[in-house]
Amino acid sequence: PPGAHVPVLVIGTGYGGSVAALRLAQAGVDVHMLEMGMAWDTPGSDGKIFANTTTPDHRSYWLRTKTKQPLSNFLGFPLDKDVPKYTGILDAEEFSGITVYQGRGVGGGSLVNGGMAVTPLRERFSAILPSVNAAEMYSTYYPRANAGLGVTEVDQAWWNSVDCYQYARVGRKHAQRSNFSFVFVPNVYDWDYMKKEVAGTVPKSAVAGEILYGNNAGKKSLQKTYLAQAKATGRVAISALHRVTSVTPANGRYTVVVEQLDTSGTVTATKTVTANKVFFAAGSVGTSKLLTRLKATGALPGLNNEIGKGWGDNGNVMCGRANHLWDATGTVQASIPTAGIDNWDAGGAFAEVAPLPTGIETWASFYLSITKNPNRAQFTWNSTANRAELNWQAAWKQPSIDMAKTIFDKINAKEGTIYRTDLFGVYKIWGDHLTYHPLGGAILNKATDNYGRLHGCSNLYVIDGALIPGNTSVNPFVTITALAERNIDTIIRTDF
Ligand code: FAD
Repeated sequence: PPGAHVPVLVIGTGYGGSVAALRLAQAGVDVHMLEMGMAWDTPGSDGKIFANTTTPDHRSYWLRTKTKQPLSNFLGFPLDKDVPKYTGILDAEEFSGITVYQGRGVGGGSLVNGGMAVTPLRERFSAILPSVNAAEMYSTYYPRANAGLGVTEVDQAWWNSVDCYQYARVGRKHAQRSNFSFVFVPNVYDWDYMKKEVAGTVPKSAVAGEILYGNNAGKKSLQKTYLAQAKATGRVAISALHRVTSVTPANGRYTVVVEQLDTSGTVTATKTVTANKVFFAAGSVGTSKLLTRLKATGALPGLNNEIGKGWGDNGNVMCGRANHLWDATGTVQASIPTAGIDNWDAGGAFAEVAPLPTGIETWASFYLSITKNPNRAQFTWNSTANRAELNWQAAWKQPSIDMAKTIFDKINAKEGTIYRTDLFGVYKIWGDHLTYHPLGGAILNKATDNYGRLHGCSNLYVIDGALIPGNTSVNPFVTITALAERNIDTIIRTDF
């Protein structure tokens, strides 16, 4: 309720926020979580909570009147269509030079992501988080994160036999024929459920292509793991459609201003609550935008000059390859990725062999590459426009393209194939206008101390992807979760 006081307030319900809430609650602390997106616990008129990837509707996009599909075109036709404005699940947030895709709702990115749960190779860890003790991460916190998230490996014998992973087997064949290392990656999907989908004994979800706009079964989003456990403690309350706009010190506590939204995005009430401690877990972009504003407008003047800095896109770049007719990738493609091509050490690229769940045969192989792109952007406050801006430049993706080409130019040469030019526009090979993996903006041991305590303001913490300096060499959520587990362990021990 407005005017209420809570011991701990957590802004955002993604990975960082969910870890903080669960561990604090288990330690006996009452926690209130505020989430700007919806609860996603009620079916729509079609009986389903989430819309299918192939049929986006009002539920699919955050306050847009037209979809902004990551793959915008197919065979020369634009795919985007009008939708009613609604507080939908996927935000395609546009900054100059880049569109940043993010999940909106209770569960954050876990609602929309591919579930690829990758622990980076230990020898690459010091380049990802140089101030963090790697031995502790690999003995304690990565295992704890993987257990908490419900990460498991696909049964490879089954994978080798099913139609819905034909596309991934084509990906393996092409990778291996060019002497690249093809690696299976774990996921949070319930593989037994997917086996039943294939057998036809349960409603189809991954096998029906559900992913980008939510998954109605099978995927263990945070709603089913950390957040379910947190709620079961009885100490965690979550308010959905509540967006935090300000955090200011007042009498040794913090006053937090919150806007309540309706499903058209209209602010229906503005509330203030007070808290002893506040955790910023609004995601790399959400946390960075808030902190940039709070520093620039004088609400939290003590924040240091590292706020907003070190933001990266995890080197994301997408592409498709056109296969020969004998390399069909299948009309049915499971939306859950299972593998990647690792050329990080030689070429700076790790490519996820991604599904293209269109329901028709495309003869396309599709990839999301994570690359060692060195470019970093910064959030700054535009007082005239009253918003935080990001200075990423479109040309900064060129290193990512060059690194992805170390894999796909070679495969194309070996196979005698070409890139698809119809997926991101007309005659455009690279999906270089976007990222799924925003990271940084409040870097660990720079904007914060080595455990996420913000410099210059006691009792304020960052505990999400904003802490990570722009790149994880693989898909990021396991690292975000493991780092949050590490930081909250120390914070509970010393600050409570
Ligand atoms: P988030 O999960 O983004 O959570 C932040 C939450 O805070 C959101 O729910 C947001 O709505 C809320 N919020 C923001 N601002 C406010 C505010 N002012 N007030 C209240 N609430 C606020 N990663 C992988 O590792 N594997 C994958 O397979 C993978 N696939 C992906 C596919 C897609 C399409 C996308 C978009 C992402 C994917 N990712 C994947 C990335 C992964 O989901 C993110 O890295 C991860 O969710 C970030 O976690 P977080 O805790 O930092 O923040």
